[in-house]
Amino acid sequence: MNRVYLGLGSNLEHPDQQLRWAVQQLAMVAEITIVSLSSIYQSRPMGPQDQPDYLNAVIGLDTDIAPLALLDLTQKIELDAGRVRKDERWGARVLDIDILLFGQQTITLPRLGIPHYGMKEREFVLYPLAEIAKDLILPDGQSLAELVTSVAPNGIKIQGNLR
Ligand code: ATP
Ligand code: MG
Ligand code: MG
Repeated sequence: MNRVYLGLGSNLEHPDQQLRWAVQQLAMVAEITIVSLSSIYQSRPMGPQDQPDYLNAVIGLDTDIAPLALLDLTQKIELDAGRVRKDERWGARVLDIDILLFGQQTITLPRLGIPHYGMKEREFVLYPLAEIAKDLILPDGQSLAELVTSVAPNGIKIQGNLR
């Protein structure tokens, strides 16, 4: 069994409902047990600024699903939510589900990098993750608590509850 952390993001089509819907889809999977839910956070867009603010959350789950099979599942949920892949990097999206951490594993595959390459610099990942896993140590030995203090909040604020 692995403890996995997923980062959820949305800035289109009722983002709070997108995040809740994603959690429901994951909770329905027999091999997944949802363990923790962060608050919903509002954050500024990364990259192109001509798009709405994001809502983000991080969830913790336990699963026996293999990493690539979990990626298949999260990508299917993104598509089912109506996500359209565009050429523009970091453009507006209905739903993004990134696999942040997969137990203490380090994975470097063309389709899947774990830990997620951007998580250490992103306030909208670190702040919600720290809310639900404050004592977490990353596979490289870095403590989450220390990482959080090194990243500016960039206007992030708690917007609501995922439940
Ligand atoms: P970013 O990855 O910078 O947050 P993004 O989430 O918008 O940007 P996507 O379009 O969702 O990027 O994903 C691009 C590709 O990233 C996916 O096709 C997937 O194969 C790959 N990928 C690599 N590592 C991961 C991971 N840990 N979680 C999710 N996708 C990943
Ligand atoms: Mg992403
Ligand atoms: Mg993604």
